[in-house]
Amino acid sequence: MSNTTIQIDDKVYNYLLSVSLNEHKALKKLREVTSSMPGSRMQIAPDQGQFMGMIVKMIGAKKLLEIGTYTGYSSMVCAMAMKSGQIITLDNDPIATEVAKTFWKEGEVDHLIDLRLGEALDSLKQLIEEKHSSSFDFIFIDADKANYKNYYELCLELLNPNGIIIFDNVLWSGAVADMDDKSKNTIALRDLNEMLFNDQRIDLSMIPVGDGLTIVRKKQS
Ligand code: CA
Repeated sequence: MSNTTIQIDDKVYNYLLSVSLNEHKALKKLREVTSSMPGSRMQIAPDQGQFMGMIVKMIGAKKLLEIGTYTGYSSMVCAMAMKSGQIITLDNDPIATEVAKTFWKEGEVDHLIDLRLGEALDSLKQLIEEKHSSSFDFIFIDADKANYKNYYELCLELLNPNGIIIFDNVLWSGAVADMDDKSKNTIALRDLNEMLFNDQRIDLSMIPVGDGLTIVRKKQS
């Protein structure tokens, strides 16, 4: 027995998928289509998607917000877990999100998802103006890393007390732990991680699923 997280090599990872992954056929097809597209690294792993769907079910989330739609996998997996409710998803890429829209229809969840194209900071401010503050149960942040801290403050305003925010890529392939790595995105994520750790408004847990997730829960004020 060990008190540290095990190293997941391909063999262990494939075993994990073989005994746990329950992926809808439209999600599987979307992953296959996305894998040959530009930016396919941005696609979340299927086990991560299933984990997020599980959280949606566990907290009974009915109103979700996502920053970074890309080709729509995470919004589709959350919509399938939610069954009824609303997901607002933000992106500035009209090409990738066309793929998303096609697959949301195929997965029969398109009626649950509201895509807003544009700069996410503008869309978030717009949502606050539209009186969506303190109304979202679950927010997934998976977009440009340099803006994570800016997204966070607006998302915390939009989040329900006891609501959940999940940040993707917080371990950045391990680069955040290499203090010699001074690239812009690495520094942005390292700063975010330290800021969240010291933020008294939230509880958090950082877990090594995919490229690292931080789960934030907003405290009751
Ligand atoms: Ca990501």
